[in-house]
Parts: sequence; structure tokens; C-alpha cells
Amino acid sequence: MTLQTVSSFARIGEENAFAVLARATELQRKGKDIINLGIGQPDFPTPDHIVEAAVKALRDGHHGYTPANGILPLREAVAADLHKRLSVDVSPEEVMIVPGGKVTMFMAILMFGEPGAEILYPDPGFPIYRSMIEFTGATPIPVRVREENGFAFSADETLSLITPKTRLLIVNSPANPTGGVTPKAEVDKLVAGLARFPDVAVMSDEIYDQMLYDGEKHVCLLGYPEIRDRLILLNGWSKTYAMTGWRMGFSVWPKPLYDNARKLAVNSHSCVNAPAQWAGLAALTGPQDAVHAMVAEFDRRRKAVVAGLNALPDVSCAVPKGAFYAFPNISKTGWKAKKLASALLEDAGVATIGGPDFGVHGEGYIRLSYANSLENIERALERMKSFLASAQAA
Ligand code: PLP
Repeated sequence: MTLQTVSSFARIGEENAFAVLARATELQRKGKDIINLGIGQPDFPTPDHIVEAAVKALRDGHHGYTPANGILPLREAVAADLHKRLSVDVSPEEVMIVPGGKVTMFMAILMFGEPGAEILYPDPGFPIYRSMIEFTGATPIPVRVREENGFAFSADETLSLITPKTRLLIVNSPANPTGGVTPKAEVDKLVAGLARFPDVAVMSDEIYDQMLYDGEKHVCLLGYPEIRDRLILLNGWSKTYAMTGWRMGFSVWPKPLYDNARKLAVNSHSCVNAPAQWAGLAALTGPQDAVHAMVAEFDRRRKAVVAGLNALPDVSCAVPKGAFYAFPNISKTGWKAKKLASALLEDAGVATIGGPDFGVHGEGYIRLSYANSLENIERALERMKSFLASAQAA
């Protein structure tokens, strides 16, 4: 028997970070000492008061369906939090609670992708953008983010790639995998330029909006009234509150798209896990000390990882201003990035991700997540140093 799925499944991709995690776990099971700088999730536990809120919600009987777009107090809390932190005005009617940050991109790309359409996305960038664009049959148009610009996107370069076929533009700052943060002046320029292309929707992935260093202030695209009617905001709890496994995200949709998103929710997950939504409410309305402590610790590690990488022979690392990733340039080592990442895992016991897993423009780089202890980061850098000194480039 041959089961014939639709042809789009030949085009769907995935995230290699999960494959690296599986391989690292397998090596660990075989007794190898692996330092995991591969996966992008905080190594801190979810703060206690958030966990307690979920337990209480279950005890209080919150174990049924909720409205597909999320419970009202949580949508109100999201709107209040965006107002408080970023001075943007959002109505709870525009907010949708979704199971993780990824779901917003899934929905947005499904809404705009089809054969003949073009979707612009950052490269190197989060791999699911391209995967989903290809799945829909749309043409993925990579917008290169460059090391010489501190891995910020360039407004001019982005605008120059828009054609009459462009339906959606995806931007991401602070960015994965580079840690790049796009300065306000560049965002201003992009938004001004978008006035010439009123039919292009924008999805802004701001999931790392609280992970900023060196005094950087987050530039939220909701702050630009001129594009509010075509802007989709992607954000969530995963990174900020160390809640990756809870699957809690939110989006802000322009009114005409909101109902499409709600229907996609009704047709797929019905609603987000009810106790997780109450936990999300506690996260937003409770003390934020744990978030600040986490970011301060990431900052210490960031400095250590950048200094350590720059001390390695033939490696140079730009200073990431956001998220929790370093994206060193390894092109002078003579190694191809994926081969180096694989050799570092197999021979040196350090899990990293090869830049090409984030797009064609990722060659010459590897990604290190510094969501691991300072001690482990230092051990990993030592291992990389001895490995690069002794191994033959491939
Ligand atoms: N967007 C970016 C840029 C990410 O790096 C990630 C996760 O790594 C996500 C979205 C997805 O987040 P979630 O785990 O909440 O689905």
C-alpha cells in the first residue's frame, strides 16, 4: 500500500536544533560528557509563583476548554503589559493566546503563502520561517542579515526585494541565531519605505524583546501607527519566563485577520491548555525579579562567551546585543560550518548548531546558545580551543 500525502510535505523542513539535541542526548546516554550549547531554551526553572498559579488553576477547576482566543483576563494582561513596557496601545480583542511563539508564524504564513506569492524572511534566521513558506508553495525570498551591520536587518536591502508578488515580510529583532538587534533608525526607515507597498503585511517576531543588553531599548513594531493595520506581532512566554515546555505564546492581529487566526485555532488546537493560561497570567502580573535576574545572568555569560570565542585562533565573534546566542565567524578556520558543529559534538563533546541550519547565508558561522552555566561555557570554550588547535579542518 502506498499512502499518498499531499505534495507540500515534500517541502516542509524542521529545526536542526532538535536533531542536535537528540544526538547530544544519545551521546550522553552512552556515557559521553556533552556540554549543550545547541538548544535555545533558558536553563532556569519557571519561577515558582508561575508554577503555583497553574497548580491552583487545576485545583480551582480550570480544566475545561477556554475560548479559542484565550481567557479574557490573560488577553487584558497582555494588553496591559505591552502598554506598561513598550507604551503601545492594544485592545484585548486584538490579542490571541496561542500554544507557543511558533503558532503565530504558522498561522501568518498559512494566511499569506500560496504558489505565486513571495514572502521575505531573515537569513540567517529562525528555520521555521522558510520551512513554512515552502510548505505553502510560496517563494521564500531571503533577506540577508550581515555581520558588518551587527546582524541588524537593512531597511534598504529589505525594501529592494519587495516585488508586486510580495505578500508578507517577516522581521525578527532581537534575532535568533545571531543575537542581532536592529536599531530604531533602521526600523523607522523600513516603516517609512513600507508606505510605498501598502499591500505587504508584516510579521514581527519579538519573542526575545526582554533579552537586551548594553542599555538597548526594544523597538516594538506596534509603536508605528502607519503599519498597524497590516502588522502581526509574535511574542510569548517561552524565553522571557523560562516556559518553553508550557507552550504559551500570543499574537496581536490586525482586525481583518483576527477571525482567520481564531478559526485556525478552532480547527487545530481549540484553545491553549487552561492551567497554562492562568500561569501565563501570573507571569505577567506577578513580580518580574526572576526575569531581570535571568537577563543579568545571560549578560555575564554573553561577555564570557564573546571574549572566549574571540580568543580562539581564526574565530571572531561580533557582540550580540540581544537574545542568548553568539554567532561567531569561523570561516578563517578552514572548516565548513556544519562539519565543524558536527565534529565539535562528536569529538569535543560540545553541542552547537552550524550556521547553514539557519539559511544559506549562515555558512561561515556556528551558533552557540549561552543558556548554560558560566562554568559549562568556560569548559566548552577550553574544549573548542584544544579541538581547533589539534584537528584537521574539513
Ligand atoms: N521565534 C524565534 C525567533 C525563536 O527563536 C523561537 C524559538 O526558538 C520561536 C519563535 C518559537 O518559540 P516557541 O518555543 O514559543 O514556539
